[in-house]
Amino acid sequence: MPAVLALRFDPAVVVLSYLTAAFASFVALDLAQRVRTPDALVARIWWIAGSLSMGTGIWAMHFVGMLALKLPFLVGYDTAVTLLSWLAAVAVSAIALRVAAQETLTSAGLALGALSMGAGICAMHYTGMAALVLAPGIQWDWLLVAASATVATAAAAAALCIFFGLRRLPRAWARWGQLVAALVMGAAVAGMHYTGMAAAGIAESSVCLSTAGLRGDNLGGLVAGATFALLLLTLVTSGLDARGERRTNRLQQSLHAATTELHEQALRDALTGLANRQLLDDRLQHAAARGQRDGVRLALLAVNLDGFKPINDSFGLTAGDHVLRETARRLQGLARSHDTLARLGADEFVLMLEGEVGETALAQVAQRLLDALAEPMADVPGAGSQPLRLSASVGIALYDGAGPGEALVAQADSAAQSVKRAGGNGFAFFEAHMQAGVREQVELARDLRAALAGEAGGGRLALHYQPKVASEEGEVNGVEALLRWQHPLRGAVGPAHFIPIAERFGLIMPLGDWVIAESCRQLAAWREQGLQMRVAINLSVQQLRQPDALVRHFQTMLARYRIDARLLTCEITESVAMDDASATERTLQRLAELGLGLSIDDFGTGYSSLAYLRRLPVSQLKIDRSFIQDLETSADARAIVKAVIELAHALSLTVVAEGVETEGQAAVLRGKRCDKLQGFLFARPMPPDELARWAMDARDDRLRFSASVYAALDAGAGV
Ligand code: C2E
Ligand code: MG
Ligand code: MG
Repeated sequence: MPAVLALRFDPAVVVLSYLTAAFASFVALDLAQRVRTPDALVARIWWIAGSLSMGTGIWAMHFVGMLALKLPFLVGYDTAVTLLSWLAAVAVSAIALRVAAQETLTSAGLALGALSMGAGICAMHYTGMAALVLAPGIQWDWLLVAASATVATAAAAAALCIFFGLRRLPRAWARWGQLVAALVMGAAVAGMHYTGMAAAGIAESSVCLSTAGLRGDNLGGLVAGATFALLLLTLVTSGLDARGERRTNRLQQSLHAATTELHEQALRDALTGLANRQLLDDRLQHAAARGQRDGVRLALLAVNLDGFKPINDSFGLTAGDHVLRETARRLQGLARSHDTLARLGADEFVLMLEGEVGETALAQVAQRLLDALAEPMADVPGAGSQPLRLSASVGIALYDGAGPGEALVAQADSAAQSVKRAGGNGFAFFEAHMQAGVREQVELARDLRAALAGEAGGGRLALHYQPKVASEEGEVNGVEALLRWQHPLRGAVGPAHFIPIAERFGLIMPLGDWVIAESCRQLAAWREQGLQMRVAINLSVQQLRQPDALVRHFQTMLARYRIDARLLTCEITESVAMDDASATERTLQRLAELGLGLSIDDFGTGYSSLAYLRRLPVSQLKIDRSFIQDLETSADARAIVKAVIELAHALSLTVVAEGVETEGQAAVLRGKRCDKLQGFLFARPMPPDELARWAMDARDDRLRFSASVYAALDAGAGV
């Protein structure tokens, strides 16, 4: 056995080799974020670019490492084998990026990722060593070879763990986390390299046979070239990023135009062109504020047609629409230019008056409205030649200068109802005893309180779950939790009915807390059944106004049921998200820091400033049902939905379409690359057991899907 060389390294070059590897990893982690964008093509490009850059970096490290080795004879490397080692480095990087781009890191994913990365790093290193052809050949110390493989695998696992840990960090910390992950990853490669070198026994009398290939002294230039390529890629990255930014801005402008138009439409009743409830509420609020400040008087007249339903039922909807439009026209004829006339429900109109509104004047206005409506209505389609004779019940409420204006609508309406009960065709001023509607609300609030306390008299609260289906693969891994209340006397009461009552009567915090606790409990129960689910819950504006209590409750429940925060998403309606912008932003930031996902619900119904939306830490946007409904019939709706989807994608948000009811709507949405679909077409909200069965049925498909992911991974990585 010939005498073995004691290997000596140039320490400065060793450090350089380590820095090269760490730098390559840092760039690669940046790219791994981009592999996660929703646009499949872009993601693929980033994956390839990332693999090339990271692979080149790792490989460059290897050769810088070789350069650090001082050998007493002329050294060269076989060109083809060297190229092969580069390919191995790119392949291992492809695997690493694919694993890093996963949504979550399962233990199987971690094991598979670390093992294949370890194997890849070894393949790269020992192929690289094979490019150095010596006579006599290298004597390997197999124990150290095994040790080098272990180092590579363990450090790859550590880097993956750190990388996934990063996602939970607040943004300000993420950059530092990335640096740590890169340093560890660099250590994986360098540690492996030098352990591997220690395993190589080179005889003192060695002669290098591969000096005809890449010469050792040429390596400096080669490596400089590789590092340069890396830098270039980084540069290209940021360049493309800037382009994306510009594209985003353009989209923002076009969407801004669309939303302004939308906003106009959103405040108008489509049938009559009158103000809708939102606009009325807005004006009412302002008028009430003026009333409190300047003492300006304010009054509301609620106008309900008598016997409208029979007209609809017997003459048909066209007749009904005609009557409503004609009613609107007549009322409009009596309103002054600064009065607000609104339609709130089918045949519920409201006239808001500001200024001189004494009781006598109001009575006159009411009488004039009744007279105008009493004029016979000719030419109603479907109603024959006889003109229709209509009457109405009018309720009048005067603002007393205190409290919010909304109560006024309820009061005017109560007064109109009392006229209706008395036979209709007349008007009445609101009086305290007319609070029948108000009484109903008090009763419901009392029962809801009992239900929350688990008392028998309150009936039962439950969550039902509606799947969100991935539009491409049909995969289901998320559901929305929707609150249901089985009232002991009234039967099922819908959330749209009782949530506003809970908000008005101070019950929304306990109710919201119950929803959070119940969803966590259910997630844990599903986990026991082997069902991996994500749940979205709806948050009310008032919950966001108490951030400390909300955050604490989330923390307690997540800990109690050992739930990963990323499995929960909070849906916040757009109007809420836009309300009191800076406070909302701060609260959402805190929820995001817990790791919760955030989603903007009913998008398109509010007044979004997109610049603001961009500042929020949201990850999902749900297009309101009203746009989906019109998809097949309205080019406007299609254009708006397309703009929303493109903008959301440019901001890296996933888009969910809610209220998908027909195959036609689903097809349009898939065509526009909407990410997820939710609606009766796929499933109604279901109790948890039923949902579990439904999901199990769908699971075979999902397994097939994930198998194909691994197949693609293998093929792409060339393993
Ligand atoms: P949302 O968050 O926009 O929920 C979607 C609503 O659309 C649900 O009504 C759902 O049943 C209904 N929906 C789903 N697919 C379709 C479809 O294809 N066609 C039609 N026509 N409707 C569909 P739901 O359950 O009555 O809830 C109404 C609203 O009540 C929710 O609107 C949400 O804002 C609120 N809500 C529900 N649960 C909670 C809760 O736990 N907390 C709070 N704060 N609000 C809740
Ligand atoms: Mg929702
Ligand atoms: Mg919604």
